[in-house]
Amino acid sequence: MPSTTTIAAAAAATAAATTTTTLSSSSSKTKQEAADDLDIYDEIEIEDMTFDKKLQLYHYPCPCGDRFEIVLGDLRDGEDIAVCPSCSLMIRVIFDLDDLPKGE
Ligand SMILES: [Zn+2]
Repeated sequence: MPSTTTIAAAAAATAAATTTTTLSSSSSKTKQEAADDLDIYDEIEIEDMTFDKKLQLYHYPCPCGDRFEIVLGDLRDGEDIAVCPSCSLMIRVIFDLDDLPKGE
């Protein structure tokens, strides 16, 4: 029954969307307890950041004039918070492990 399949898929998609919405409103408490104490300035897609091959880190301009930094190794470990060493502002890096540069 194609129609049944379509309806089931639509229902699943709706359920998934609802779940995602619910989670996002409380994700700071449920997803990462460690993040509760953090003051996240912004969320930045990793493709908007600059990768420094020499230092093996990603950086992004901070409003203070310095820059947020996070090393590749931390991203591979699941860490997603980049910190500005000058003003201690933090950003969350939006990335997929598959997007990270390969090679050891
Ligand atoms: Zn800063």
